[in-house]
Amino acid sequence: MEIVRANSLAEAVSAIYGEQKKVAGRRPVYGGDINEAYRLTLSDGSAVFMKCNSIANQSFFEAERKGLEALRRTGAIGVPAPLGIGIDRGQGISFLLMEYLEAAPKNTDYWEQFGRELAMLHRAQCAGFGEEKKLPFGFSSDNYIGASPQVNTPRESWVCFFRDCRLRPQMEMARRYFDAGTQEKCSKLLEHLDSWLEEPAFPSLLHGDLWSGNAVCGPDGKAWILDPAAYVGHFEAELAMTELFGGFPPVFYASYSEVNPIEKGYRDRKEFYNLYHLLNHLNLFGGSYLGSVQRILNKF
Ligand code: ADP
Repeated sequence: MEIVRANSLAEAVSAIYGEQKKVAGRRPVYGGDINEAYRLTLSDGSAVFMKCNSIANQSFFEAERKGLEALRRTGAIGVPAPLGIGIDRGQGISFLLMEYLEAAPKNTDYWEQFGRELAMLHRAQCAGFGEEKKLPFGFSSDNYIGASPQVNTPRESWVCFFRDCRLRPQMEMARRYFDAGTQEKCSKLLEHLDSWLEEPAFPSLLHGDLWSGNAVCGPDGKAWILDPAAYVGHFEAELAMTELFGGFPPVFYASYSEVNPIEKGYRDRKEFYNLYHLLNHLNLFGGSYLGSVQRILNKF
């Protein structure tokens, strides 16, 4: 279904569900970092999920919509359907409406299945998500990683993409935290990145921000992935992020690698991939992340 574009929340709801349905109530949903979120109840008792932010921040939702749609197109894993997007000037908000995922108990093989489905996402055909220029790595438009801008200019080479569109912009933003020695290490790392990272055998569509808070159990008892920062890249970058803040259980990685084998050198490479997210945390949340950034820089 084509997403509805509307000039008010009420207009969006009637365009999606029909004139007779109205918003009858709303309950806040907590747990997000950036937006306000609500479970809206409609007059027939059904539910819809709404995220809202200021009007000025509408671009967050355009970017999220594109990521959700790209991930859904693969059919590999549960991703909520974006239903409506718009600005409500009366309420002073921009909003994104999407399918509400009613929580259910996790299937007993929840983690195995999640691992397999993420691997299927990474093996899904993703030519054309990059750009019309047909360069494999990147995305059709820039988006956000948390609240930071994420550059997705398509590139022929993964290593160049990761250097120019991932590490370099974050390192430039983080300059204010760096002394001369750290700055020098950053420059060296960028210069020699191709001796540490490798081109993947195939490009993969990535969720892009897959930590445990961005996966929930949906009504089918399976994992659904939310709040993407999607782009086409190396699947190792995604796996690395799943390990950064707590990690997923071993059984997840075991079943992942049955579908998409993880190579040995990944253990070393994952540090570079997580450097991107740690730099982003340094830029968003401040100096408490400097030590983790420096630990990785010192290793190489
Ligand atoms: P933010 O963009 O602010 O980080 P999130 O996308 O993480 O917000 O969502 C905020 C909260 O809403 C989280 O607790 C998340 O689990 C929940 N959530 C997100 N999408 C849905 C959905 N489609 N259905 C039900 N709950 C959702």
